[in-house]
Amino acid sequence: MLGRHRKDARPGVPSNERLIFHIDMDAFFASVEVMCRPKLKGKPVIVCGKPTTRSVVAAASYEAREYGIHSAMSSVEAFRLCPHVIAVEGNPGQYIYVSLELLRIYKERSTIVEPYSIDEAFVEMTGTECTWENCEEVARAIKDRIRERFPGLTASIGIGPNKLVAKMCSGFQKPDGVSIIRPGEFTAFFGGRGVTNIWGVGDKTAVALSLMGVTTIGELAAFPVAMLRRRFGIMGEILHMMAVGRDDTPVTPYFEGMPVKSMGHEHTLPADTWDIAEAERVLLRLSDQVARRMRKKGYLGNVISMRLRFSDFDSVGRQKKIEFYTDEERVIYRVARDLMHRHWRPGQAIRLVGVNCSGLVRIPEVLQIDLFRQREEDSHRKLLAAIDAIRDKFGEHAITRARLIRHDAKTWSSTTGSRRVSEPRFLRMGVGSGERANQSLMAGWHDAAPNLDTVPLPPGLSSSPFDMLRHQDLEDRKRAGKE
Ligand SMILES: [Mg+2]
Repeated sequence: MLGRHRKDARPGVPSNERLIFHIDMDAFFASVEVMCRPKLKGKPVIVCGKPTTRSVVAAASYEAREYGIHSAMSSVEAFRLCPHVIAVEGNPGQYIYVSLELLRIYKERSTIVEPYSIDEAFVEMTGTECTWENCEEVARAIKDRIRERFPGLTASIGIGPNKLVAKMCSGFQKPDGVSIIRPGEFTAFFGGRGVTNIWGVGDKTAVALSLMGVTTIGELAAFPVAMLRRRFGIMGEILHMMAVGRDDTPVTPYFEGMPVKSMGHEHTLPADTWDIAEAERVLLRLSDQVARRMRKKGYLGNVISMRLRFSDFDSVGRQKKIEFYTDEERVIYRVARDLMHRHWRPGQAIRLVGVNCSGLVRIPEVLQIDLFRQREEDSHRKLLAAIDAIRDKFGEHAITRARLIRHDAKTWSSTTGSRRVSEPRFLRMGVGSGERANQSLMAGWHDAAPNLDTVPLPPGLSSSPFDMLRHQDLEDRKRAGKE
């Protein structure tokens, strides 16, 4: 039965009234492979990219994990740990299909479903028939539905009063578990655990905290916020909130949410150029515009892509995932310029330059920020804020980089100014357009594919699972109309 949500089951509702599921599939890629090839059942299985010697483990079955194999490890290392491990080449199309079918199951319970990665989703149960009293039953029923639909697939479900807590506890009883943390129980569960148990707090942050004498979540919660702020900037406050289990970020339903999974600009040069320096200047300006738009909308991203079109209309697009989230043009520019230098063709004139930032998260949701950088760049951020303020008041061209001044006159202002810059064209949706499409979709769901660092970016594709769910809705409605 479809759960109805009240109007007030929305952001802004006190967090103790919310009820959120985080559903995380167990060893997803490996489990799908085993489901499709029953002979693999009970055996150590790893899912890799192309079966070359240099591929990386994208997922490992629990049998393989017993040998110490884990994802992101090289397959060579996996074979060393377990010589009889069975390596299977990944099948992205299949994972996406299963993923969408799983989301369909979650949608039976609530209209507010947020795909978080290819095998994880948040479901807002606030205001549905699910309550704190029956939530365990509901979770078990969802797991039964999954098993019914896909024999052999199991999920671990975390239930909490917000996304942070739900996400943090879904891993408690993996595989096939249900973990519930009710309002007010957070500290009892997590207080004594290490800070790396906080969603997104990594080793670097843990080291920085340990230098301040903080090793457990309880200690972090009790630590003076002002000192955290001094050390980590705005992230200090977020760290404190996370340490007390507070999180107000809404579950963003696929149908209204995150229309932007990427932000980008591209620019066709007034005349084709052989001069890489010229292309660099355009890239710098575009990076600046992208970063500014991201700051304005409150997004950070960690996948940067660059596109060049040559005079013969052939184009090349490449993307790179960076280790931290950013909204700064100098970071975007640096990565995009690197990609440009690696992929431009010196004999060919450049016609168009584009840059795009994806892997976007809203700022309060950023949990994997590299806090060292954050601090280092505090003064730079102040500068950016000042520049943004000037531009808000006096327009985009009120302030610019010295490097761009003469260039601006030539390339930008002589045309129709920034209006000539188009919206991103090279990341539109393409559901079901063959294998290449699937590969790109996988690349977009970057969390799921640690081995996809620099991947070719076919034009005309979007990686948004939100788009795909909308597409699914449309198909469902069409089918319902026919019946
Ligand atoms: Mg998982």
